[in-house]
Amino acid sequence: MGTLVLRRGLHPRLRAGHPWIYRGEIGDVRGSWVPGDVVDVVDAAGAYVGRGTYNPRTSLACRLFTRRQEPIDESFVARRLQAALDYRRDAGVATEAFRLCWSEADHLPGLVADSYGPVTIIQCFTLGMSRMLPWVREALGAILPGTWIYRRDDPTAARIEGFEARSEWMHDSDPGAPGDAPEEILVEESGSRFALRPGQGHKTGLYLDQRENRAVVAAHAAGRRMLDGFCYTGAFACQALRAGARDALLIDSSGEALASARRNLELNGVADRAEVREANVFDELRQLDARRERFGVVVLDPPPFTRRKDALDAAARGYKEINIRGLRLLEPGGVLATFSCSHHVTQELFESICRDAAGDAGVTARVVQTLGQGHDHPVLLNVPETRYLSGLLLQAI
Ligand code: SAH
Repeated sequence: MGTLVLRRGLHPRLRAGHPWIYRGEIGDVRGSWVPGDVVDVVDAAGAYVGRGTYNPRTSLACRLFTRRQEPIDESFVARRLQAALDYRRDAGVATEAFRLCWSEADHLPGLVADSYGPVTIIQCFTLGMSRMLPWVREALGAILPGTWIYRRDDPTAARIEGFEARSEWMHDSDPGAPGDAPEEILVEESGSRFALRPGQGHKTGLYLDQRENRAVVAAHAAGRRMLDGFCYTGAFACQALRAGARDALLIDSSGEALASARRNLELNGVADRAEVREANVFDELRQLDARRERFGVVVLDPPPFTRRKDALDAAARGYKEINIRGLRLLEPGGVLATFSCSHHVTQELFESICRDAAGDAGVTARVVQTLGQGHDHPVLLNVPETRYLSGLLLQAI
């Protein structure tokens, strides 16, 4: 096994329980190893730090899996996945569609696993994790007996890390040949039904991180006109319409996402109260305002406007603009559920952007609730990067 020797004492980040080691912090690499291997990490004085996967190709070169001297093997992965499932069961979020494992937050860096009824969809983000996937498959089969497993890697991560991104069923003799695996899965979320096709759409199929927020929005929807901006497959609108929204306008720029949204609206018997519009939300909000259209509920759940810290200003301008427009479209007493999933945009910054937006829009708004990612996407206090979804439920008063 190889050993990474850190340049100096422990970086405060590592001391605080963070699992990342950057290339520049590594002084020497001893022993025999190949990229992606599990290695030991010691500090400059030779004291044991932990054990993790090492990839010299990426600036984030090592992700610790443990601080103990324990083997990283199939049984280790099985214990971690079982712990991840136990946490979700205890928290009451292990429903039909939920995130079972979330990488660093579940001490399995590089692995995302989402459970969708009979199917588990996994995503691999690191070279090290790609080597552990046979163990992951065995462990998932043991803790979720009979589950079909679909592997859907993130192509960007695969390119950076240097492994081949796969989008395919991971099967062996049990539980069945891939031909038996369902092409379409129907899952229930808070009483609504959503369809997804393994291997299609964003992420693993649904934005599970918004599940609890969809229920919050639905609770404000009865009798109101709803606007679902950046609707993707229409999950917010389906929940709001089932909760009694009068009607809903769904906007997204992706025709493929909107085709799935139509399917979901039909599955939930609410398609007759919904209009689906393929458009750029920025333009469409402006036009709706120009026509003086007003809504009782507006949802703005855009994609990340930046992944880089140095592009924060441009991202902030984007958030400000859509929120000015979103606030202006509210009828008196109407609510805006607004989000940022750019993890450099902290809750504090997001709130200040929305404050500026309210000023420019000439709207006084009450913060009804602060919103964030669901409990199946836990935040590790020691790893601030695990918090990425900022959100507010605002009411125009
Ligand atoms: N609210 C959704 C998830 C939204 S994901 C849910 O709960 O499931 C973000 C969506 O924004 C994607 O579907 C993407 O196609 C869409 N999108 C990105 N830029 C856009 C733009 N400028 N105008 C409209 N839609 C956009």
